[in-house]
Order: sequence, then C-alpha cells, then structure tokens
Amino acid sequence: MTQAHPLEYIRSAQASFFRLPMARFDQRDAGVYRGSDAVILGVPWDGGTTYQPGARLAPYHLRRVSALVQPHHPAHQIDVFGTLRACDGGNIVTPPFDPAGARERIETEVSHVLAAEAVPFLVGGDHSIALPALRAFARANGPMAVIHIDAHLDTSSAELWGEQFHHGTPFRHALEEGLIAKGQLHQVGIRATWGTANDDAVSRRHGGTITTIDEVMEIGVIRLANRLLTKIGSLPTWISFDVDAIDPAFAPGTGTPVPGGLSAREAIAFMRALKGIRPCGMDLVEVNPALDHADITVHLGAQLLFEGLALLAVSKRPERRRDS
Ligand code: MN
Ligand code: MN
Repeated sequence: MTQAHPLEYIRSAQASFFRLPMARFDQRDAGVYRGSDAVILGVPWDGGTTYQPGARLAPYHLRRVSALVQPHHPAHQIDVFGTLRACDGGNIVTPPFDPAGARERIETEVSHVLAAEAVPFLVGGDHSIALPALRAFARANGPMAVIHIDAHLDTSSAELWGEQFHHGTPFRHALEEGLIAKGQLHQVGIRATWGTANDDAVSRRHGGTITTIDEVMEIGVIRLANRLLTKIGSLPTWISFDVDAIDPAFAPGTGTPVPGGLSAREAIAFMRALKGIRPCGMDLVEVNPALDHADITVHLGAQLLFEGLALLAVSKRPERRRDS
C-alpha cells in the first residue's frame, strides 16, 4: 500500500482513518489485511447502550477529524505511519437488530486481522464490542493482559436488565471465559456509583487491579503506568479505552457520563507513559457524536487512538526492542 498525498482526502472527498489507505474489500478473509501491521476497523454498533444512544456514528466522525492528525509523534519522536504499515479496514457491518449477529461479525473480522498478523484497532460503537474482539484474540493467541480505562467496571450481569450482553458487561464475560490472563485485568479511572457494595467482586476474584480515580489522582498517571508496565511484563496487552473515563468537561460526547474523571491531558500522558508495552489490540469506545460539542470528544478520541497506534510503532522500533 502506498501512502497517499496528504491532501488527497480533500480532493477525493473520502476521509479514511488518519488518511490511511483503505483495505480492499473484494474478499472476506485475512488476505485483504496481509502486509499490514495495524488495521483500524469502525464498529458502528450501539445496540448495547443502556442510556443515550448514538455511539454508532463515531467511526464516521472519527475518520473526519482524524484527517487533522499528522503522522509524526512529538513525544515518542517517531513517524507512526512511516513505521507502521497501517490501513483503514472499513466498518464491520453489524446488523442493528441482532446483537448476537453483531458479536459474531466482530469476532470474525477481528480474526481475519489477527490471521494476517496485524494488530486490530477498533473504533466503536459502545463497549459491548470489546467482548467479541477479546474472544477473537484469545482464541488465536491465548489470554492477554488488558488495560481497561473507564468510569465503570463493566462487570455487570443480567441482574438489572435481564440481558447478559450489553455495554456494562464485557469484562465479566471476558474474565469468566478465561480470555484475560490471571490477574491481568487492570481497570483505571473507575468512579461511577455502584449498585451494591460488591460490584467489584468479579474483578477482585480474578486478582486484577482496580485503580479508582481517587487513587489515580494520588499516584499520578505516570507512576501508575510504570506500575502497570512492571505487573504486565512482556504479556501482549489489549487497551480498552472507554472515553467516559475522561471528565465530561473534556469529553461531553458520551452516553453515560460520570462527573470527576481524567482530564484530556492526564489521559494522553497516561497513554504515552505506557511506552514499553506490547500492544496486541485496542478498542476506543463510547464516543457519541450526537451529544458532542465542537467535536471535542471526537478529536480526543482520534488523539487517543493515535496514542495507541504510537505505542505499537514504538514497540516495533529496533532500539526499543534492544532495551526491552
Ligand atoms: Mn463507561
Ligand atoms: Mn465501558
């Protein structure tokens, strides 16, 4: 895939993620992704939303504003898209009335990306899209570490809605299905009120870490990232970033906002401080353009996705490989 001229997206009136080349769509298997290091997939699914819907529109808006993100990362000093062969894999077409069908299609498409030995980056959609992606990864490569940044634990069950699968449940299933390595679910920024005193029982039982927003503020994002790097070691790591981890002042465009979260600056600093992990995938979820103002949340979402891609680029830099 050759790099397009930086302004070609204006001439063509087609905005792909970060102006990257689009994958071919003439076959439905791993072949279309072969030769890529990273594949960005839109997942326009918000059928797992419990409050305000609209996250299904995020992939379109993220593509639009991500055109403003330039390839050179100023903190890591790396040309992200010069280092990574990355492409836009288009959207996964999820049937809006069929959650099980949506999960199946997400798992299948992520499996294609993994079979091509590329790293999947998913743009949701609501947080329920993370489960089938983690299933695909675990099936192909075994359990991974997960850094889950969120206001919510997302380990609920059917107790409230009578439904096992929605955007509040992905990590319960991921833990129960053994998709995550023992003790390697690291939840960061948790602050939403709980239904009971035992809402953290599922996570605690599996021995992962929960760092509430109060603890994040006390420890600091850089020290927290360093602690996680030590705990995770060389395990492949999935980053699951729910944009509602960010304070609604910086991320108003999300369906279940919770006051008192990370600032945009802290979130970006945290991502940068994860330099040294082995990223095996990322989802960026819960960006809701219908509730956004002046694209604040969409811009932040594009930046956070870029930070994840930068971590992958850094992990491929030869000198980084030597010191790890
Ligand atoms: Mn959340
Ligand atoms: Mn979530």
